[in-house]
Amino acid sequence: MTNSTLKTQHSKRPHTPATALRDELAVLDRQGLKRARRVLETPQGARVRVDGREYVAFCSNDYLGLAAHPELIEAARAGAASFGVGAGASHLILGHATAHHALEVALASFVGRPRALLFSTGYMANIAIVTALVGREDAVFADRLNHASLNDAVLLSRAKFRRYAHLDLAALDRLLAASRARRKLVVTDAVFSMDGDLAPLPDLIALCERHDAWLLADDAHGFGVLGPEGEGALAHFGVSSPRVIAMATLGKAAGVFGAFVAGEAELIETLIQRARPYIYTTAAPPMLSVALMKSLELIRGGKSRRQHLQALVARLRQRLSPGRWKLMPSQTAIQPLVIGGNEEAVALSGDLARDGLLVPAIRPPTVPQGTARLRISLSASHTFDDIERLAGCLNEIERAVPYSEPHPGPGNHADVPGR
Ligand SMILES: *Cc1c(COP(=O)(O)O)cnc(C)c1O
Repeated sequence: MTNSTLKTQHSKRPHTPATALRDELAVLDRQGLKRARRVLETPQGARVRVDGREYVAFCSNDYLGLAAHPELIEAARAGAASFGVGAGASHLILGHATAHHALEVALASFVGRPRALLFSTGYMANIAIVTALVGREDAVFADRLNHASLNDAVLLSRAKFRRYAHLDLAALDRLLAASRARRKLVVTDAVFSMDGDLAPLPDLIALCERHDAWLLADDAHGFGVLGPEGEGALAHFGVSSPRVIAMATLGKAAGVFGAFVAGEAELIETLIQRARPYIYTTAAPPMLSVALMKSLELIRGGKSRRQHLQALVARLRQRLSPGRWKLMPSQTAIQPLVIGGNEEAVALSGDLARDGLLVPAIRPPTVPQGTARLRISLSASHTFDDIERLAGCLNEIERAVPYSEPHPGPGNHADVPGR
């Protein structure tokens, strides 16, 4: 640092590279966009403890209530006893254990595809698939509301990035028809993570057939929950195609950690040979694959869990009177209540927390400006009483004096839809 930069500093703190970050963080704070982490003191579940206080939580993606299931804990213990804790190497060196291998075979058979490949996280799986398949001469067509990991993947791939309005298949059709790209890849969330609605997978497959494109369906929120045995969104629609790349995560309904990609044998072999997030990283602990084998068994036999979850969704939608807010038309465990302004969404989340209910406020950039929302996520481990309590509290707050903005800003009432 030079003397002149020191003199232009008005703050008492000496200038360091972190000073500029402090100013940026202050802006986030003023916009109601600063995030803070709660520290969880218990296993994930419908009932949790934070800061010594018990809450009913509507925050997790643990849709089937498996994250702390005694049989999974026991399987993880047995897995650690057989394989130790760390994999110690990447899959291509000597980190690929029999536990990983058996799980890949089981996953492929469960979703009815020739092969499957494990990844440590869904974020990495998406980066891997997109960057291994497309490059500068290619084009990716993406729904505007796709998960951030899919968008990041496309940017990293350097392919042309064409985004279409949420679920606008006519627009997608036009984009595909106009494209002269060497390879075309359509990417979509199967269940949209912040809206809870489903992508029309049969229509998307038909479009991809017509334009000779691949379809990557990210089923992070459908796997375990949708389909006759929890196989996911594709099974829910009863569709499959060799041009579909089925990706799903294992840290949500499956209750453990990781992700997998299922598809044609050549696709999986290409990922093993080419995908940098597969090659240059340590394999996930094999003990997790042992736990996931148990999880797969619980998912398959989890019909009553899925039915209970559906009944909870129906009950919430029946009991909630959203009034000035908007309950999005979702039939899945993700039930977003759009509030509009950032400040009001955060205040509402705070009011619920005082009543012992944890529901996260989701703000931009995770969702579009003016659509800050409570993302209510339900789990098979909730009871009908939990739902009644949540709906009761929300209805009461909505009927009470309308929320008034503490200070004007991007979160003011002008951007609440429908007002
Ligand atoms: C959670 C999520 C991911 C990322 O999965 P992780 O295993 O948590 O990294 C990817 N896509 C979607 C749609 C998700 O919701």
